[in-house]
Amino acid sequence: MLADLTLGQRPKGRTALAARWIVAHRDGGHRLLENGEVVFDADRIIHVGARFNGDVARRIDLGEVLISPGLIDLDALSDLDTTMLGVDCGPAWAKGRVWPESYVNRGPYEMYTPEELAFQKRFSFAQLLCNGITSALPIASLFYREWGETVAEFEAAAEAAGDLGLRVWLGPAYRSGGMVCTAPGVLEPRFDQARGMSGLEDAVQFITAQAGRFDGLVQGMLAPDRVETCTQELLARTMAVADDLDVPVRLHMAQGQMERDTVQTLHGTTAPQWMAGFGALTPRLIAPHATYATEDDLHLYADHGVTVAHCPLVFARSGAMLRSFAKLRHMGINIGMGTDIAPPDMVLNMAVGVMMARMAGDSIHDAAPEHMLDAATLGGAKALGRSDLGRLEPGAKADIAIFDMQDALMAPRVDPVRTLILGATGRVTQAVFVDGRLSMRDGQVAGFDMTAARARAQAQFDGLRAKYPDRTWGHPPVDDIFPPAYPHLD
Ligand SMILES: [Zn+2]
Repeated sequence: MLADLTLGQRPKGRTALAARWIVAHRDGGHRLLENGEVVFDADRIIHVGARFNGDVARRIDLGEVLISPGLIDLDALSDLDTTMLGVDCGPAWAKGRVWPESYVNRGPYEMYTPEELAFQKRFSFAQLLCNGITSALPIASLFYREWGETVAEFEAAAEAAGDLGLRVWLGPAYRSGGMVCTAPGVLEPRFDQARGMSGLEDAVQFITAQAGRFDGLVQGMLAPDRVETCTQELLARTMAVADDLDVPVRLHMAQGQMERDTVQTLHGTTAPQWMAGFGALTPRLIAPHATYATEDDLHLYADHGVTVAHCPLVFARSGAMLRSFAKLRHMGINIGMGTDIAPPDMVLNMAVGVMMARMAGDSIHDAAPEHMLDAATLGGAKALGRSDLGRLEPGAKADIAIFDMQDALMAPRVDPVRTLILGATGRVTQAVFVDGRLSMRDGQVAGFDMTAARARAQAQFDGLRAKYPDRTWGHPPVDDIFPPAYPHLD
């Protein structure tokens, strides 16, 4: 039984997991294996197929579950999400999501303590595991930061990933500029080139010191924040350094009208076309979100092997969408998936991905649950240059998600993959193995009390929310910034 294994540990000897359904990998694609087994030894899968004939240290019959490759999250929510605050409260400039001039003049400050920054990463990593996510490239907001992310919090994040058993690509986000609100609705970019370059240098030192730790669970990533907040010099240097370090680069672009307008004013074109002009579009680049990509932008992505990190939930909430999932796929653009907003639920994202693609005009055959699962596994692995991830086949890493298909609230089954994804919740994740370690079981992770953590997270979030007037245009009281959905009953 799974209950006999020790949480956080790699079971000794070969472990056979028998299940009613397994997403197995064969001949370049996923296949549905019924009544089969996955066998792993230490960190590697050694068998996927019918009952294994060799010796095993244990055989666990999981029954009516779907065993899937662990999910790969290219834009993995890693803070106490503040984007949620803005979903039904706008516009952004009036709600603390753009720094007003007065806040810049008083001196931006870190709205969390170093302990709080470390805590929110650990809590988020645990939540990712609870949702079947085994590989994560963390993303967090910079609006509540003094400037960029810090090496100290990423050192803590590396420890958290090692303790909990989550595969991560880490690097503190940096930027050479930011938007400043100078009058209601008027936004101006401001740059500090030296600060951006020093952020990149910090990231390089972090990666050099940390990449490969915890049996390789921790890897490096360069994460310039958003394209409109980076100079050409910073991005060109980033891509050159990424080649030296052999790490992926994630950069948000082609994702919003404000960005489109700002980049047009600064560089006279779109972000992807500007980047292509100085050779910064390469297969190393992972680009959330392409929701505002033009036809020409998409052709550049296809020509240069750029991966689009697709995060349908965060955009659906504001009425925006990728146009379209099937179109990008047919153009040959590699698509991976990201959570990017609370809840960090990849199953929900895949469900919303199917719905939004079909609303965008994709046919049911062109944008189906299996295409989303391909993106959340094989697409992510391709972006990371890791042919040993995102698939269950001999030689691959033992990164495994187990979904309970007899959960009482689950719809009657049509097909396990369709039923899981159209059921739209990662809460049916029963267990997760990462690198052969049992990292999550029944909502629990090693050495971390999720219930106590949730209470602590709420208190921390409330503290942040209380500071919003400091960086909101006109400094209104917090209840004016985020009014209740219904008026208060007095
Ligand atoms: Zn994002």
